[in-house]
Amino acid sequence: LPSIEFNNVSFSYKTKTATVKILDGVSFRVEPGKSVALVGPTGAGKSTVFRLLCRFYDVDDGEVLVENQNIKNITQLSLRQAIGVVPQDTVLFNDTIAYNIGFGKREATDEELIDAARRAQILPFIESSPDGFLTLVGERGLRLSGGEKQRVAIARTLLKNPPILILDEATSALDSLTEKKIQQSLNEVSKGRTTLIIAHRLSTIIHCDEILVLKNGIIAERGTHNQLLSIQ
Ligand code: ADP
Ligand code: ADP
Repeated sequence: LPSIEFNNVSFSYKTKTATVKILDGVSFRVEPGKSVALVGPTGAGKSTVFRLLCRFYDVDDGEVLVENQNIKNITQLSLRQAIGVVPQDTVLFNDTIAYNIGFGKREATDEELIDAARRAQILPFIESSPDGFLTLVGERGLRLSGGEKQRVAIARTLLKNPPILILDEATSALDSLTEKKIQQSLNEVSKGRTTLIIAHRLSTIIHCDEILVLKNGIIAERGTHNQLLSIQ
């Protein structure tokens, strides 16, 4: 499995009228197969870290390494293939669940699709239609709840099986049973991958090896869940 490393990374968004520095010398390393969570107030730059890792933008200073290689020397295609993203707000195609889960892996068999759906706990929402396609049960069509949509994204990632995972935890208030189930699915999908979690609440992240608190462009604090809770 690959490691992820940010080495003294600085980044500013430049608009016509202003340059706003978001990251000012950020360094951290996610060891192969480990998970690191980023917390911090809205606007702290958590999503920016994810965008830099995917090379939607390039760093101004410092370097981002995947498997100890500067991502500037990795093709966009192989970087995208190595990274799976479970966003907090999954946009679904107006098509069958099979299409939505299999998107990105067209050659997947029905068995693989069903297995991914089961592991993401989305199987109860789908069934095989006579023409062999997996469709949603009932009349709700693709009007899934936020949590259900996130599980479709989890199934998609399980199928794609990328070595690196970016998890954007949901901000929406879920009831505790739903939250528990989603947490199980998220744990399932992060197993055996190098994982970067964008977390919105300290209370929801438990299963990660290190937590980084991003504030004012720097990593203000870092530690395990217990260590950070004992500071507060
Ligand atoms: P977080 O994920 O921690 O909420 P973001 O990384 O999304 O924070 O954003 C950090 C800051 O950068 C915010 O103040 C946001 O308004 C600003 N920002 C994000 N994207 C852009 C952009 N494309 N152009 C200019 N400013 C941006
Ligand atoms: P995939 O790996 O599934 O082919 P992408 O890598 O294109 O998908 O994008 C994954 C997710 O990243 C998208 O669902 C979207 O939420 C988010 N994303 C894509 N482009 C941007 C961007 N420019 N800024 C922030 N987030 C983005």
